Amino acid sequence: MEDIIADPLPRRATVGVNVGGVVVGGGAPVVVQSMTNTDTADVDATVAQVAQLAKAGSEIVRITVDRPESAAAVPRIRERLELLGIDVPLVGDFHYIGHKLLADFPDCAAALAKYRINPGNVGFKDKKDRQFIDIVEMAIRHDKPVRIGVNWGSLDQELLTRLMDANNALASPRPARSVMREAIIQSALHSAALAEETGLGRERIILSAKVSNVQDLIAVYRDLSRRTDHAIHLGLTEAGMGSKGIVASAAAMGILLQEGIGDTIRVSLTPEPGGDRTREVQVAQEILQTMGFRQFIPIVAACPGCGRTTSTLFQELAETIQSDIRTNMPVWRERYPGVEALSVAVMGCIVNGPGESKHADIGISLPGTAEVPSAPVYIEGQKVATLRGAHIAQEFQTMVADYIER
Ligand code: SF4
Repeated sequence: MEDIIADPLPRRATVGVNVGGVVVGGGAPVVVQSMTNTDTADVDATVAQVAQLAKAGSEIVRITVDRPESAAAVPRIRERLELLGIDVPLVGDFHYIGHKLLADFPDCAAALAKYRINPGNVGFKDKKDRQFIDIVEMAIRHDKPVRIGVNWGSLDQELLTRLMDANNALASPRPARSVMREAIIQSALHSAALAEETGLGRERIILSAKVSNVQDLIAVYRDLSRRTDHAIHLGLTEAGMGSKGIVASAAAMGILLQEGIGDTIRVSLTPEPGGDRTREVQVAQEILQTMGFRQFIPIVAACPGCGRTTSTLFQELAETIQSDIRTNMPVWRERYPGVEALSVAVMGCIVNGPGESKHADIGISLPGTAEVPSAPVYIEGQKVATLRGAHIAQEFQTMVADYIER
């Protein structure tokens, strides 16, 4: 039988863009980014959240710049982060009055590493292109890249009406999805062309075209990446809460990344009120790591358990090992380069346990029942020990730590 191996397609060739020292596109590894949800005018809260996101692994962080108070806060946020030794590039998210804020607050324009422009709300009617050009000129003056970020929810209505007219669909209360998809792509491409005519180089332009429906997102980005070689920012907008947001983002971005599309990703999850914002960074990293594109942290493989297991030891141990790894990673990453590539297996019984444990760098196959407390441990495919008794979990934890240190 013919062997079918579905490796990812080669990455689409895009023009690399330097965002404050982090390269997006041009063959660079896919970059993880995130966005704060603090009021940017609140310097303390924003510094704390940017620091938290950066420590969690966000390589670029976007902050809202929506009014003079937030624009005035940006240089102070940058300074405070530098005092903390955090040099993550900050991106300003501008809507409606970005041209004014960047002109009135040159220190803000200088402190940011990139400006995000939404062509759907950069201005209205005849002022639209002028205000867009004003922001692009500001980017040229400050030597900054921009992201032209089109969003389904704030699409350029004039362009949409024109396309509906061309498709004899003006009488419909809602545009057809095909028209919406085309409008999103045209908005991004038209704005990119306008930015280039204004004098901004291609190596300063990133494009995104976000929608909230998985199939639409896949169709839009496939088409967009066929029609341009600008660096691409991937994201499913308004992905939603909890597992729905995670599954939808992983499904959409997984398919596109597999096709070589996407130079940076942001997972937009709706956090619980007061919830942990770093979850979106963790999910973005896990998407990239499980697909084999990047490595951030050792992966713990654990079986789901089934009717053969009468003990919860393997679940508890998998949880403990995962949490040990997360806690120790900042130190291990510095001390043991390459540690993020390790794999650990914690398996529930002998059916798949030994096989899966041998595939991992270090693995344990627990007995499945509390009555027979003995568990073989494998390192790099070789059985190295059989743990017995009441302290299997602690002994395996020690073995994992020793293995990593070795
Ligand atoms: Fe069940 Fe054993 Fe498979 Fe785990 S490894 S799911 S316990 S059969």
